[in-house]
Amino acid sequence: MKKIEEYVRSIPDFPEPGIIFRDVTSILQDADGLKLAIDSMQDCLKDVDVDVIVGTESRGFIFGMPIAYNLHKPFVPVRKKGKLPCETISASYDLEYGKAEIEIHKDAIKPGQKVVIIDDLIATGGTVEAAAKLIEQLGGEVVKIVFLMELAGLEGRKKLEKYDVASVIRYE
Ligand code: AMP
Repeated sequence: MKKIEEYVRSIPDFPEPGIIFRDVTSILQDADGLKLAIDSMQDCLKDVDVDVIVGTESRGFIFGMPIAYNLHKPFVPVRKKGKLPCETISASYDLEYGKAEIEIHKDAIKPGQKVVIIDDLIATGGTVEAAAKLIEQLGGEVVKIVFLMELAGLEGRKKLEKYDVASVIRYE
């Protein structure tokens, strides 16, 4: 059986020079790769008591939704600004160049709910840190954060040090 690392296609200098892009489409387009990725991420939640799964746009949707479905839990999307139709709260965070803003529906998390955040990859950790703040603003408790891939050299975990963070594949 192939290891999950073997399904990841790495593209040098995309989207800009110096970045090695870790492509998830090469995992998803293989039925065994897709199953292994979802199962491996879900394994990180074996002993976790969770009420809601949150996925961040857009690759967090791909991996978060099947896990929510398998665990028979609700799925809540955190989206880029301007996409959600009802009342939202939002958070801005720094990107390498410029800023980004994400939103969540105000009624998506109830006070006291235990929330797991799912995303494809942690680079600087900025996106998921902002998502965690939104969840906490609504009274939710972030009980675990699961990534498929971690770019350890960027030290994104430092931003998330107060959370329980797991990743399936680690790149130094
Ligand atoms: P960050 O907020 O810096 O942790 O990263 C936000 C998102 O950017 C990740 O969830 C990825 O979807 C994407 N990303 C950042 N760096 C890479 C990379 N080297 N390869 C693939 N995706 C990346």
